[in-house]
Amino acid sequence: MRKLTYLGHSAFFIEKDWDGILIDPFITGNPSANFDYKTKRITHIIVTHAHLDHLGDAIAISKHSGAPIIAVFELANYCIEKGAKAIGVNIGGKLKFNWGSVKFLPAVHSSSNPDLPYGGLAASLLFDIDGTTIYHAGDTALMPDFSLIGELYNPYYALLPVGGYYTMDMNDAAIAAKMLYAMEVIPMHYNTFPNIKVDIQKFVDMLEAQGQKCLPLKANEYVEL
Ligand code: ZN
Repeated sequence: MRKLTYLGHSAFFIEKDWDGILIDPFITGNPSANFDYKTKRITHIIVTHAHLDHLGDAIAISKHSGAPIIAVFELANYCIEKGAKAIGVNIGGKLKFNWGSVKFLPAVHSSSNPDLPYGGLAASLLFDIDGTTIYHAGDTALMPDFSLIGELYNPYYALLPVGGYYTMDMNDAAIAAKMLYAMEVIPMHYNTFPNIKVDIQKFVDMLEAQGQKCLPLKANEYVEL
């Protein structure tokens, strides 16, 4: 079984055989999330940056499941201080597991929370799950790195923030999708809060006009990898 499930906001759950990989698990306080981590097998938790709508429940889930949090060094150390298991990496680093690999790539964004004034750099993530590439852009502005990421890794799925205000908006995300040469784009980081409300059909139409497929998943909807 290989599945990529959207959990709302920027949270995703990848399942591959016996492994369960949670990304940016903002569950508590996320109006669209309906995910009971206590009933799932979670083996790895990967967090793009320290903002609470991304770090989310990671520490509690790590304590419950024993799964390590994989994050940029400063954020990983903070998670360890809070009693979680964590692995600290930095931008450019790639880790290999039974299920494939994750590489930490740049994002143009900040990384802190009220309890952690500096969480290191914000990251985006490139997954390789048995040859299926998934790029999770984290929170970011439109950046030239998308061209390089597209050229080098040619991600099949691109998970892109489209809500604007804190990240790129859908116009910039459509340009990003083109730069990444993604086959299928899953929009994220929209409609969770009033200032990131969008009409997602417009993004679907924009991508269709440039020959790319957009999958606006609802929370708990998934694609088979
Ligand atoms: Zn953020």
